[in-house]
Amino acid sequence: MNIAENRQIAEIHHYVGGTVRRAGTDRFADVFNPATGEVAARVAMGSADDVAAAVAAAKAAAPAWAEMPPLRRARILFKFKELLDRHHDDLAALITREHGKVFSDAKGEVTRGIEVVEFACGIPNLLKTDFTDNIGGGIDNWNLRQPLGVVAGITPFNFPVMVPMWMFPVALACGNTFVLKPSERDPSPSLLIADLLKQAGLPDGVFNVVQGDKVAVDALLAHPDVQALSFVGSTPIAEYIYTEGTKHGKRVQALGGAKNHLVVMPDADLDQAVDALVGAAYGSAGERCMAISVAVAVGDVADRLVPRLAERAATLKIRNGMEDDAEMGPLVTAAHKAKVEGYIAKGVAEGAKLVTDGRGHKVDGHENGFFVGGTLFDNVKPDMTIYKEEIFGPVLSVVRVHDFAEAVDLINRHEFGNGVSCYTSDGGIARAFARQIQVGMVGINVPIPVPMAWHSFGGWKRSLFGDHHAYGEEGVRFYTRYKSVMQRWPDSIAKGAEFTMPVAK
Ligand code: NAD
Repeated sequence: MNIAENRQIAEIHHYVGGTVRRAGTDRFADVFNPATGEVAARVAMGSADDVAAAVAAAKAAAPAWAEMPPLRRARILFKFKELLDRHHDDLAALITREHGKVFSDAKGEVTRGIEVVEFACGIPNLLKTDFTDNIGGGIDNWNLRQPLGVVAGITPFNFPVMVPMWMFPVALACGNTFVLKPSERDPSPSLLIADLLKQAGLPDGVFNVVQGDKVAVDALLAHPDVQALSFVGSTPIAEYIYTEGTKHGKRVQALGGAKNHLVVMPDADLDQAVDALVGAAYGSAGERCMAISVAVAVGDVADRLVPRLAERAATLKIRNGMEDDAEMGPLVTAAHKAKVEGYIAKGVAEGAKLVTDGRGHKVDGHENGFFVGGTLFDNVKPDMTIYKEEIFGPVLSVVRVHDFAEAVDLINRHEFGNGVSCYTSDGGIARAFARQIQVGMVGINVPIPVPMAWHSFGGWKRSLFGDHHAYGEEGVRFYTRYKSVMQRWPDSIAKGAEFTMPVAK
């Protein structure tokens, strides 16, 4: 739609050098309110020029920011944290408006983001390194962790506050300057975050936002002044970002998609397992990279599990996310709803048993919203598309296996390895599961094992491309370059050149 036809719809622009940068092109994308299906805003699609301006601003700000003592950088982050607390609900409301997840869930997302800011406030201690006194006669050895310079983050739609906050608080604390390319589907929180950082005293140019799509991403990938890229999104794009970014000599961490299993052992507390599965499969309408989309029912547990899941899936409180008792909101766009419903049709066609069908779900007063009801499949087989691929919607598949070994083998053969969970009351099984499973984040009687801010987040296999997990100490390592210094002073240097390998004397 031409913007001139509809002037009352808000426009969302870029943020460069401490101020809003208006779009330099007329390329815009619609941002929807998923609960009503209406266009809520229009977001500018950044060009290579917009990226160049943001990187130039970040590069100009980098030397002074890197020189600022970590304690002073931490004080700005402390102030930012206070402002985030004050604007907690404003951020959550923006998330619900553009993403659709229920407000209480959006508040939880903001909290998990704030926790990374709190972690980053400890940067003086985190940048403390090792020192060895007297490695040789009169020589000491210590290490430095220095910032990389300009770094960029490219983030997905499903956590428009938390995922950027996995990245920039740690990157900034380490002394880097940052360019964020948020998802074009829910871009508004990025600008409130930029404003709060400015209010907290962050110097102009240290944090910048370029809205947009592949055009902006490709410009970031190719820009010679971008030293590192953090990406979170789907696996095909993560692989592309990793391949292209490293080809351009950048450090890259690219977190991709998922297919997370929850194993229910016959000795599990079934009430707990059912609650866990319902919350983890249908919370945020399944649009979480840590959502559980496969229940692995071991032995005879499926016959007890499936009827209870079916009843819960059919009675979910599906509403506009701002309503108090909402348990699940809409999907993010009409296109995504169509994709999820297409997977459900494919599951039926491939022979899985559709126990609860969420297609065509209507919410009173929100007939044009992008809702899909809770969906449950039983007798799903490993060669079916709905098992192999990430659906990213409220669709739970039950796979029946004979025993624990078969459950572990099933999960280890899947191409993704983001999160996993095992419900059991047997400590030996729990321990074996944690040790044998080839997945990056493991829950034992915990459905969504998202590590806290001072641990690190990341999957295995095709759920992560790169060497570092996100945030925590892994994040500090990713956003810094390691340097080792060996030093002695002239009056202790023995005379004469040495031609042999230096060894401790
Ligand atoms: P997406 O891959 O479509 O988009 C992610 C980002 O990449 C966005 O900023 C988007 O603008 C950009 N992008 C999209 N297409 C591109 C292209 N062709 N070239 C360059 N850039 C492109 O992902 P999404 O739909 O926004 O988010 C959902 C996906 O993210 C799911 O697969 C989910 O599992 C994954 N995810 C993973 C994690 C994790 O930690 N592993 C966390 C959250 C989400």
